[in-house]
Amino acid sequence: MTAPAPRVGVLALQGDVREHAAVLRDLGARVTLVRRPAELEEVDGLVLPGGESSVIDKLARVFGLREPIRAAIADGLPAFGTCAGLILLAERISGGIEGQQTFGGLDVTVRRNAFGGQTESFETDLDVPELGDPLVRAAFIRAPIVEAVGAATPLAALDDGRIVAVEQGNLLGTAFHPESAGELRFHRRFLDRVAARAA
Ligand code: GLN
Repeated sequence: MTAPAPRVGVLALQGDVREHAAVLRDLGARVTLVRRPAELEEVDGLVLPGGESSVIDKLARVFGLREPIRAAIADGLPAFGTCAGLILLAERISGGIEGQQTFGGLDVTVRRNAFGGQTESFETDLDVPELGDPLVRAAFIRAPIVEAVGAATPLAALDDGRIVAVEQGNLLGTAFHPESAGELRFHRRFLDRVAARAA
């Protein structure tokens, strides 16, 4: 008998929630849009979408989700954050708005809006050795950068050496948006973690 597909959540307070839900469903996962603590309790993993990290942070507090998410991540819940989601998984951020908080978990420092005005958004092909061939088509949209890594492992860097993807235990974070470019391998990697933990 095969186990039912894992149930994964997409934090659905703001941002590109639908894109992530579509990729996860394409990969066979059952998806719950998480807006309240009871929904968080149903899931075996959580995707933190791109969007505006300061807004997601504020709404998470308003919806009573901040502490439950923090606790679940600290307890080993697999999580995958893209762009604003990476910012929310960082233990430390720079360039945050006054009072901005994160859920933490990834031992990294992430700088918000690291590409400034000149090239706020761009696409590039990234070598991600852990994912093999082909290169990853990566969309950077007002993207952050990983400025410093502690215990996390870099997975990808730009040509100039700046780190744009990391993982640590059950946590995965990318500064870019794989979900908008038809790239499935990061989500698959996340779902592997979810399946391993649920088993
Ligand atoms: N600049 C946004 C932030 O700071 C992130 C952009 C994105 O998620 N595409 O939250």
